[in-house]
Amino acid sequence: MAYDNDNIFACILRREIPAEKVYEDEHVLAFHDIGKLAPVHVLVIPKGAYISIDDFSERASDAELVAYVRAVGRVARKLGVAKTGYRVVTNCGTDANQEVSHFHSHIFGGRKLGGVRPPHSG
Ligand code: AMP
Repeated sequence: MAYDNDNIFACILRREIPAEKVYEDEHVLAFHDIGKLAPVHVLVIPKGAYISIDDFSERASDAELVAYVRAVGRVARKLGVAKTGYRVVTNCGTDANQEVSHFHSHIFGGRKLGGVRPPHSG
């Protein structure tokens, strides 16, 4: 599958549509999710054109990989959830309902998040 240059996060990276920025460095941008599911709900994305974590883990440079993981921790500390706990979720592909085809991780926090239980059916 080819990377879609018109996906919404590519538009955010090109500053064609606004986003509420939380963190930015050479390789990474983090911003608040527009459909907030927890008091803290932030998306962390690489600036490079990667479709999914599968694609990112395969093709990204060491510098991009390191920057991405560090950024997740920095965002969690910056928003205070590193003290109380948080969840990092990356949907990959159809079975996980990945809606935006630019690799991203959700950081959820600011309330009790409960357990993680995938659906039983199927
Ligand atoms: P996923 O289902 O893992 O692909 O998640 C995509 C996420 O992107 C959803 O939580 C959406 O609410 C979020 N989203 C879509 N458009 C925007 C936008 N313009 N700004 C911020 N978040 C967005």
